[in-house]
Amino acid sequence: MAPLSSSPTERTQVGIVGAGPAGLVLAARLAAAGVDFVVLETRSRDYVEARVRAGVLEAPTVRFLAELGVDARLRREGLVHHGVHLQWRGQRHRIDFAQLSGQQVTVYGQQELVCDLIACHLAAGRHIRFDTEVTAAEGILDPLPDRPDGGVVLGWRGPGGAHGALACDVVAGCDGFHGVSRALAGRQRLLIRERAYPYAWLGVLADVAPSTDELIYAHHDRGFAMHSMRSNEVSRLYLQVPPDEDLQAWSDERIWSELRSRLAVPGWELNTGPIREKGITPMRSFVAEPMSHGRLFLAGDAAHIVPPTGAKGLNLAVADVKVLGDALEGWYRGGSTTGLDGYSDRCLTRVWRVQDFSTWMTTLLHVDPDGDAFERRLQRSRQDELVRSPSLAANLAENYTGLPLP
Ligand SMILES: Cc1cc2nc3c(=O)[nH]c(=O)nc-3n(C[C@H](O)[C@H](O)[C@H](O)COP(=O)(O)OP(=O)(O)OC[C@H]3O[C@@H](n4cnc5c(N)ncnc54)[C@H](O)[C@@H]3O)c2cc1C
Repeated sequence: MAPLSSSPTERTQVGIVGAGPAGLVLAARLAAAGVDFVVLETRSRDYVEARVRAGVLEAPTVRFLAELGVDARLRREGLVHHGVHLQWRGQRHRIDFAQLSGQQVTVYGQQELVCDLIACHLAAGRHIRFDTEVTAAEGILDPLPDRPDGGVVLGWRGPGGAHGALACDVVAGCDGFHGVSRALAGRQRLLIRERAYPYAWLGVLADVAPSTDELIYAHHDRGFAMHSMRSNEVSRLYLQVPPDEDLQAWSDERIWSELRSRLAVPGWELNTGPIREKGITPMRSFVAEPMSHGRLFLAGDAAHIVPPTGAKGLNLAVADVKVLGDALEGWYRGGSTTGLDGYSDRCLTRVWRVQDFSTWMTTLLHVDPDGDAFERRLQRSRQDELVRSPSLAANLAENYTGLPLP
């Protein structure tokens, strides 16, 4: 086969693989810095815009999106929450974010943010190629040069079996956990640390007004449950289930009945309604280090996965690309590689802090099917302490609403 470098059909400065939150926010940051890019996305625009996933934005994420000027609809439609409810043994306890951390979170569906970003990029005439899968690369592991030199070529497969190549200076691997970027880095170069949890989340999206003004995280002997929302008309709810659970075993009636049991507190009613979507998501922690290799920079789920209990996956992706965007601006504007050289270390400090927080939230609230009586008693002690200790509650509030962006 002819080398890719013999036939680049297009040239740009930064090749971005993936149009999820990481790729699209990085694109907005580069556009603000006047750096040229092309985003290559394997899925169609319709598919990407309809994919229901995360929904809680930290305060620093919202501020960064505002700086980039992509927050108009988020400001109008996002639901600002000043606290969260934690629940165990039939009692609900409110953690007051405003009082404990001086911050808040904003509930806004990931797919809404993705829609906003795509609309903004396309309206400005920027390049997002949908239905275009990156399959190969040349020059990607060569040392980063002092000056941009167009030394990388990405090979892609597009609609109707078309093939092409994009020449660029560096590549941002924003292609999620199942993308190609980690393989391009070479698996032998990556130090992988991971943990699988003995449970998964059955998530539903229901056309019913939320039964709560703020999110409820509930620990119950039958397993964890969560009540979240996407708007004043749409509820998002989750149940802890075994990792190999069969979705077919869960009728709508069974889901509502189980949610009613696990979320129950005296005097509170759960609104029920038509379930629009349901799915099972495994729970996993994963980190691939380092996050940069030559001219390839991994960002978001391509480099790390956190269990969703802490609502951190999307926020962590945004934190990565903030660091990457700043570093790329420094390289293109000032000719300095310092930011890019330090990219991985800078991101990983936050990644491990967030891994710790997400693991702590997860083990605080789930029922471990393999846990012994000692473990269950420790968990109960941790829950009690969180209600008793203002400093522990403040720590939760600070981490949940978001540590300052690097
Ligand atoms: C099913 C699911 C449910 C989730 N639910 C929650 C939740 O409830 N709460 C929470 O906080 N977080 C949740 N998350 C995590 C959160 O959604 C992710 O952390 C976030 O999407 C990360 O963004 P990203 O841009 O790094 O990756 P992604 O959103 O995965 O985007 C990567 C993009 O790259 C594209 N791509 C892949 N391979 C290629 C290729 N070879 N060439 C071109 N493009 C490619 C993909 O199609 C995709 O569009 C969930 C994740 C999943 C998978």
